Amino acid sequence: MTTRQQSRHFPRPLRSRAAAILAALAVTLTVAGVPSPASAAVPRVAQSWSSLMYHSLTPSPKYVQLRKTLAAQRATLAARSAQVQKGKVTQSSAQSRLTTAVTADAAARTRYAVAGEALTSARNTLTVVSLQRPRAGAAVTGAKNAIAAAARTVTLRRTEARQAATELKTAQTAARTATVGLDKAIVAWQTSSATVRTNQQKLIALDKSAELARQAAALSRTVVTEVRARFSVADTTSVNGVTVHKNVAFAFRRMVADAKAAGILISGGGFRTKQRQIELRKINGCPDVWTAPASSCRVPTAIPGRSLHELGLAVDITSGGRTLTATTPAFRWLVANAGRYGFVNLPSEPWHWSITGG
Ligand SMILES: [Zn+2]
Repeated sequence: MTTRQQSRHFPRPLRSRAAAILAALAVTLTVAGVPSPASAAVPRVAQSWSSLMYHSLTPSPKYVQLRKTLAAQRATLAARSAQVQKGKVTQSSAQSRLTTAVTADAAARTRYAVAGEALTSARNTLTVVSLQRPRAGAAVTGAKNAIAAAARTVTLRRTEARQAATELKTAQTAARTATVGLDKAIVAWQTSSATVRTNQQKLIALDKSAELARQAAALSRTVVTEVRARFSVADTTSVNGVTVHKNVAFAFRRMVADAKAAGILISGGGFRTKQRQIELRKINGCPDVWTAPASSCRVPTAIPGRSLHELGLAVDITSGGRTLTATTPAFRWLVANAGRYGFVNLPSEPWHWSITGG
């Protein structure tokens, strides 16, 4: 098969886009390889759908590394955020100790001044009583005692004032240290926050999964046409008991695994032969085997030769052994996630998921 032969099968608008995708893949494939290599009979466009989905679901080493780095940086950011909170508490308590120390210092200085005034007053009293004539011995003794007591109070108040001044200095130093510490913690947090933001943006830019899945979806109708032209049962494989086309096997396997990780068990019926499709047309009460529309059967059943099940490109999904309905958690999970694996629902059949939704 050659590129020229394939391009005949592309509808005109798809031709250049598909060719560009194939060319891009030719480079990546030689490096990364494709899982579950398709048989030679499988059209290359189907292989490219598979490759696009493979690359969509397999992040580049650079992406994986950055995600790991970012996780570590987020942990650092959380630690720095905690340090800022701790710094705020420390600073606030240091500030309140400082306020208390300022008040205590002012009160101690006032008491020291008052004691000094009392001493001066006692000395004045002694001067007055000493000059009294006749000499009043008891009053002089009393005045001298009062001076001694006032002097002791002054000494005590001076000691207290010095202690208060020392405590004030300590509180001032602690408050300054706490403020500097908080400022440093805030700067560190800002730096860390900026790093995380930058790398988050880088990670988003590196994430090509959605774009690759979109490119695969753009190919899906062509894949069906090409696969139908040369399908062989040898092109199918079993994934957890579900037989699907080899080219959707990787994506389907990942979908089943990721659903399981999310607590959703997925199984179902994938490939069926044309003979089985004919039988189902009869079992499901279709007005006839070959012409009546699928919707005219008791259970919608495609005309033989038109079902994507006959190519292994559709799966009737069950969860816990039951066919999916629109109210089951498995259906809701698929609605939210199946697109990432290249699977689309046929709206009239909640259980039917295929690469085109057909
Ligand atoms: Zn189906």
